[in-house]
Amino acid sequence: MTGELAEAVVDLAAIEANVGRIAGATTAAVMAVVKADGFGHGAVPVARAALAGGAAWLGVTSAAEALELRRAGLTAPVLSWLHGPRTDFAALAAADVDVSVAAPELLDAVAAAARAAGRPARVHLKIDTGMSRHGATAAGWPELVAWARKYEREGVLAVRGVWSHLATADSSPSGVSAQTAAFGEAVAYARDAGLEPELLHLANSAAAFTAPHTHFDLVRAGIAVYGVEPVPGRAFGLRPALTLRTEVIMTKRVPAGTGVSYQHTHVTDQPTTLALIPLGFADGIPRGVDGRAQVLLGGRRSPIIGRVAMDQCVVDAGDLEVRIGDPVTVLGPGDAGEPTAADWAAWAATNPHEILTGIGTRVPRHHDGKGTFTADVRVEGALPSCATEGKR
Ligand SMILES: *Cc1c(COP(=O)(O)O)cnc(C)c1O
Repeated sequence: MTGELAEAVVDLAAIEANVGRIAGATTAAVMAVVKADGFGHGAVPVARAALAGGAAWLGVTSAAEALELRRAGLTAPVLSWLHGPRTDFAALAAADVDVSVAAPELLDAVAAAARAAGRPARVHLKIDTGMSRHGATAAGWPELVAWARKYEREGVLAVRGVWSHLATADSSPSGVSAQTAAFGEAVAYARDAGLEPELLHLANSAAAFTAPHTHFDLVRAGIAVYGVEPVPGRAFGLRPALTLRTEVIMTKRVPAGTGVSYQHTHVTDQPTTLALIPLGFADGIPRGVDGRAQVLLGGRRSPIIGRVAMDQCVVDAGDLEVRIGDPVTVLGPGDAGEPTAADWAAWAATNPHEILTGIGTRVPRHHDGKGTFTADVRVEGALPSCATEGKR
């Protein structure tokens, strides 16, 4: 017993199997992307499971995330890709973390840190092939390559990779082709300039399953590792790894015409039983989903009604007999009829990534595969529920 109000149970066997599926879809090596605390699943346990499942690399955004993996004793190659002028490149070099660089200014900082650390930094140069987000533009690429080559000659860094990111891998094959062609040109330029990157990488989860010509030496898989199918309408045998559970902490029978939660955005149209659950928008339940979102309670789906509050929200249990302590599954793989992260994404008009990474730090993550909210916990000596009384 943990005494908690909710839990996120992470199925590490599913993570391992998902990585196996990704590895089976490519001849390239697999980088498991464990940024944002492993998409909310817990970066270190996910990283271990992913490596067990066949991943060769770990990918993160920040220095802090990379160093967390190293502190946990993980020795697999790690690439970190978002840095600014304050990034501690010396710590990254000392921890043997590869860094992505897209601007000459930051290349200077990496080189200075490597000089200070007394060991060459391993760098992956990023080219923007059409996402217009991170990466050097085609116009800026020659300068970045030239500076990298200069520092390489001086022995302060080694360009290990050239890489880019796809904007439309889940939706537009022609966009993918255009980016892949631009990537090829950037790589050719870098080679002509004397760089010898051993790792070219472009693909994300969606491309891992649908665009083999983007795989090169490494695919960077994020959402697929966590078991969310990356291409709308297609299934590649992935299994969602996270189950978010809680329990009913209050029930009440209310008459028709009862306003529920802030601003009374919902008014009951018939007598019903309200079940309160202790999860709100601070825990990752999107605030605007009332009227659309559902949870699994007593073996069936019941809607969330009224505004989701910071810490709690109200479920309309109808005439279901519900009692304090009844288990509620908010999301999971869907086995028992519970909603999935993809369902929540549709309700909240977002993507499953935002749903999963939005699960708040107040919700403990359990990696033993079981959790504590599976069995009914009844309050000893509880009175009969209002639901039965109210129904008459
Ligand atoms: C997050 C991220 C990925 C993983 O993308 P998915 O679509 O979740 O597989 C890959 N590469 C980069 C640069 C990313 O930021």
